[in-house]
Formats: sequence, structure tokens, C-alpha cells
Amino acid sequence: MSEVPKPDELIENIDHTPPEEEWEKIESPITEGRFSYPAKGKNLEVMEFRAPGEWSPKDEEWPLPDNWQEIIHEGFKERLEKYRSLKVFMDICVRCGACADKCHYFIGTGDPKNMPVVRAELLRSIYRKDFTTAGKILGSIAGGRSLTKDTIKEWFSYFYQCSECRRCSVFCPYGIDTAEVTMMGRELLNLLGLNINWIMEPVANCFRTGNHLGIQPQAFKEIVDFLTDDIEEITGIKINPSFNRKGAEILFITPSGDYFADPGTYTFMGYLMLFEALGLDYTLSTYASEGGNFGLFTSSDTMKKLNSKMYAEARRLGVKWILGGECGHMWRVINQYMDTMNGPADFMEVPKSPITGTVFNNAASTKMVHITEFTADLIRHNKLKLDPSRNDSYKVTFHDSCNPSRAMGLLDEPRYVIQNVCNNFYEMPENTIREQTFCCGSGSGLNNEEVMDLRLRGGLPRANAVKHVYEKYGVNMLACICAIDRAAFPPLMEYWVPEVGTTGVHELVANALVMDGEIERTTNLRFEPLKEEEDESDE
Ligand code: SF4
Ligand code: SF4
Repeated sequence: MSEVPKPDELIENIDHTPPEEEWEKIESPITEGRFSYPAKGKNLEVMEFRAPGEWSPKDEEWPLPDNWQEIIHEGFKERLEKYRSLKVFMDICVRCGACADKCHYFIGTGDPKNMPVVRAELLRSIYRKDFTTAGKILGSIAGGRSLTKDTIKEWFSYFYQCSECRRCSVFCPYGIDTAEVTMMGRELLNLLGLNINWIMEPVANCFRTGNHLGIQPQAFKEIVDFLTDDIEEITGIKINPSFNRKGAEILFITPSGDYFADPGTYTFMGYLMLFEALGLDYTLSTYASEGGNFGLFTSSDTMKKLNSKMYAEARRLGVKWILGGECGHMWRVINQYMDTMNGPADFMEVPKSPITGTVFNNAASTKMVHITEFTADLIRHNKLKLDPSRNDSYKVTFHDSCNPSRAMGLLDEPRYVIQNVCNNFYEMPENTIREQTFCCGSGSGLNNEEVMDLRLRGGLPRANAVKHVYEKYGVNMLACICAIDRAAFPPLMEYWVPEVGTTGVHELVANALVMDGEIERTTNLRFEPLKEEEDESDE
């Protein structure tokens, strides 16, 4: 791992001065801290992808197959024919620059090739040269470039410095989605076996074991048992969730990060406590034990394969519908791609809350309801006993996770829930939230240690907005609805705003939730004393 500069040094060294030379002429050395380690052969082989052996992006010669140009050309052609959006995105950019300063990686690095317009140009210039008449005849005059080994290196570097967050697309007057350009760039690299391990390992694990972390069924159950012990200690209530139970009404699926590491585990405890309080007829699955879909960062085919597990399990268990936890890319895949990949899931019913009777028509096709929609509906119908004062030690702000916010417009429900379970809620500045939210800087498979420099830079705009509400209102807790965020924010906050912690929304819900038969609570889910107790001891 490269050495990370101190925050002041990092900021001082960001230079946004436009370069004098044209972007094509700017060299792009592959430097430590900005590249992820290549995928291991065993993970590529599980998915039947080309495994080029051991190599490093710093190597002069990359292990490309002899016919690499032909593979890229054919792969590009196939995708232009298959995805109308790609063809449109290649043709219609007018280089207006409206997207240029909207990417958190450009803001944090000052590298012109991290401008969305230039990132897309890395692919577009090859498209022009190889697939347009003007480019074939006029070459560079028409903006075309030849495909060289250096182009492949540039693609690897910059398509893995894009978190596919889609913020740039919000500002493009033509609606060009540079995240989808990145996805195609990664797909093409994948044809050559050039992938990164922090994506391919979760993909292989999920395909083989059911979740990104490769947690075996019995271990999953043991972890859940352990968490229910903690719940019992805090509330006096022992919960016994069912696994793989046929005939349950609802299948609950959440990202494995929620039951693997803090602070995700508190969110997971929150789900279990909520379901127990409701007497919900639900089951967990040890087969579909993952909500996230790292296929999104690999190829459409992989995304489809991983997505199908959730639906296969729902069919096998005979559930009526699926309730999904606080996850980022699960919801992007479900809402943007699921219907044309594995849907519509007609073997299930349109989700209906068994507690309120609300029919979630927005999920009529996917048959999957987001947990914050579900909980917001419960609160709106006054079905939960809540004591928000149990969260009084927290001054909370909310990060709109890129995928649920921009892919499914889930903007109001999490806020409504937080405002009902916490007394102190403060918004970050308007141009950094809701559709315009800034990425955590670690999305799309970049949440690894080796790119920490990039992550801290990419997370700077988000952290800056958190710092603003910390200084203005004393905010000390950043809530989010994504497991990657819950993993990415602790080091990001530690670096930029160390006074601020990270939480999932359902951790806050469970703190406030008054369950029938519970003992008097003295701590929150983190075993921290409740505020009243602190006050008493202060006196
Ligand atoms: S999708 Fe996000 S990370 Fe990628 S270029 Fe656009 S703003 Fe940057
Ligand atoms: S905002 Fe859209 S049209 Fe303008 S440069 Fe960016 S991608 Fe091209």
C-alpha cells in the first residue's frame, strides 16, 4: 500500500489548472495508490474468464493474448449492436464540459483524465477511429485514435478510477451516462482477462458460496446467532430467525457486509429486531445470502448470473415477495437491469405489507421492496412504538447512497424514517445530497486498501460536506443505506472528519424501537450508554 499524505498535504497538492497540451498527449503513468491489484487466476477461472497469470499493472509488458486487438474490436462491435445506449453515448457528446468538474475523482485528484468527458473519450476516440466513416478516413482530425497497448493501460487505469456513481450524468444536458461507458470499458478489459481482485473475488465467492465474502451456510447461521445473543443482552428478547424456510411469506436479503463487520452488524441487528417486533413471517437464505451484485462492475452477463440467485431462491422457497436490506448496487441492478435480465418475476405476488396492507405498486415487477420504504410505511401507519430520545447522543446527517438515490429515486423514505427515530437531524448542503449526492469514493469495487490514496481523494467532496455540518451543527453521525458506504466511511471520516461515526438507518430504528416485553434498555446497539444514563452520571 502506498503512503497516504496528511490531509493538508493532500489538499495542497491538488492542481486543477487546465493542462496546456491536448488530453491525448498527456501521459498517464500507473502509480501506487491509484491502481487495484489484478484478479487472481482462481477467481477468474471460477467464472470461466481468461486468466492471464500473475502480473502487475506496473509491468512494462502486460499479458495480453496475441489477438487482443481483434478481441477488443469484436467485443466493442458486439456491444454497440447490443446496447443502443452505448452507441448513443458514443455519438452525441458535444464536449460542452458540463460534466467536467462533477466527478469526485477529478475534484480530488485534479487529473484531467478523471473528468467524465475525457474518461468517456478514452473509449469514444477508439470508437470514432474504428466504427465511424469520418474517423476511418480522417483519423485524429475527426477525434479518432488508434488502439494501442497504451490505450489498454489507460482504460485499465481510468475505468478503475470511476466508481460508476452516475453523478456526472445528472449534469449532462444530453443525459450521457459515463458510468455505463465505464461499464463497457470494464467489460472489454474483462475479455482480455484484465480485472481486479477486489471485484473478481466477491464475484467468484458469490457465484460459488452465495455471498461476496465466501461465508459458508453454517458460519452465516453462527454469525446471526451471535448477533441475536447481543440483542438479548440489550433487550432481554431472544430472537430465532429462520433460515431457508419454505412457505415463508417474505424472503429477506441483505448485503453480506451487514452481517460481517461493524458498523454493518448493528444495522443487521436492527432488521432482526424490527421483524421480531412486527411478528413478520420472513426467512433468511443461506444460498441467496448476498444482496450486492459485483457483477455490475464486471460484465452484464455476470450481473445477470448473480442476480438470478435471489429469484431462484425466492421461487424455491415459495415466498410471496422479497424484502431487501440497506444495499447500494443491489438496488441499481434490481431497478435498472433486473426486468430485462431475469424478470419480470411473475411467479411472486405484488408486495403487500402484512402489517399495514399497503401494496407496493412500484415493486410490481421486481417484487422487491426496499427496507426503508417498508419501515417508512410502518411509521406512517403508526405501527411502531418509538422512543427517538434513545438516539439523542447522535446528531445525524444522511448520505444518499449513489445507487439507491440515482437509480431508484429513494430520497424521501430514509429521511422520513430518520426524522422519526432521531431528534437531531441536519442536512448537508443542497448540491451534495439527493440526486446530486457525492460518492463515498470507494464504490464499484474500489473499496480496497491499495487504492486508499484514490479513495481519500475521491471521498473528499463527501467528507467536505460532512465537515460542514459537523462544524455548523455538531453532527457526529453519518447515516447511509449502503453496505459499501458503511465500510468506506469509517476510514474516510477518520481521515477527514474524525469526530463523525457511521451508521445504517436501521441501527437508528432499532435503538428507538420499543419492543413488547423488552427489559429497560441501558445501552444502544453498540453497547454505549444511553444519553439519559450519561446525564445521570454527570450529575
Ligand atoms: S460515474 Fe461518477 S466516478 Fe464515474 S465519471 Fe461519472 S462522476 Fe466520475
Ligand atoms: S456534459 Fe454530456 S455532452 Fe457535455 S461534455 Fe459531458 S458528457 Fe459530453
